[in-house]
Amino acid sequence: MRKMLAICALITLTIMGCKKDVAVVEDESISQDILAQVHQHGFGTSDVKKVEEGYLVEGDIILTPEFLNSKPGGNFLRIANEEQYRTTNLVTGTPRNITMSLHSKLSSQAGYSQALQEVADRYNAETIGLTFSVVASGGTIQFVNGNGPYLASAGFPSGGNPYNKVTVYSRNIGKGTTPTFINYLATILAHEVGHCIGFRHTDYMNRAYSCGGSATNEGASTVGAVHIAGTPTGPDAGSFMLACIGSGQNRPFNTNDKIALDVLY
Ligand SMILES: [Zn+2]
Repeated sequence: MRKMLAICALITLTIMGCKKDVAVVEDESISQDILAQVHQHGFGTSDVKKVEEGYLVEGDIILTPEFLNSKPGGNFLRIANEEQYRTTNLVTGTPRNITMSLHSKLSSQAGYSQALQEVADRYNAETIGLTFSVVASGGTIQFVNGNGPYLASAGFPSGGNPYNKVTVYSRNIGKGTTPTFINYLATILAHEVGHCIGFRHTDYMNRAYSCGGSATNEGASTVGAVHIAGTPTGPDAGSFMLACIGSGQNRPFNTNDKIALDVLY
C-alpha cells in the first residue's frame, strides 16, 4: 500500500474525470435534496457538479435524475478492505452483445479506433454474458467528443440497458499510434464501459489508494458486502476500475477484475 502510494507520488496522477489540479468548488446551485439523494446511493457529496445529463460525481460518473430517483441498492463485492467492486444496476437480458461506435471527431484521431477495438477484445476475452463489438456508427454505447477538464465520463445502466454515451475529452488524453498510447486510451475507455455496465470505482472507500492525497471515503454503504473467495487479502494494484490513472498507464483486467466480471455477468 505504502509502496503503491510512493510510486504514485512520482507520476502525474489524473482522475479519470477531473484533472487532479482542478480545484474542487462546491456548487451552491445543487440543492440539499439532491445531495441527500447522491449520499443515499453511496456517493460522496464533496464534489458534485451539475452537468447536462444530470450530476457528475467521483470525477467521471454521471448520475441521471432517473438514477437518483431509483431505489438505492445493488451488488457489492469486496476485496480486502479498501477495494471493492460494486454495481448499482446491471445490464439484463444476457447473453447479450453490446455495440459501440466512435463519433467522427474521435474516429478521425490517431489511435482511437484501435483503442476501442482493444476494449472489445479485452471484454470478449472474458467468458461472460456480455460480448462487445465495434460498429461504424450508432450502436448501444456511443463515444462522443467533449470539452472540459476531464478525461472521460459515463453513467450507469437503467432499465436493464447499458448507459448509452461515453464522453471523451480527447484534448486532455491526446492521440497516437504507439502501443503505450493505445493501451492507455483503451484502459480509459474500458473503465468508462465498466461504468456503463454498472461498475463503481473499486477504491471508492479510499480514493487515496489510486489518486494520492488523503483518504476520503466516497460514500456510505447501505448494502451488505460480499467477499470474493480466493482474492488477495491486501489491495490489488491496477484494477481497471480504480478512480485515478497516471498518464500512459495500462490496466488490462487483473485477476480480481476478471473474477468480478465473471461473478456479475
Ligand atoms: Zn470512473
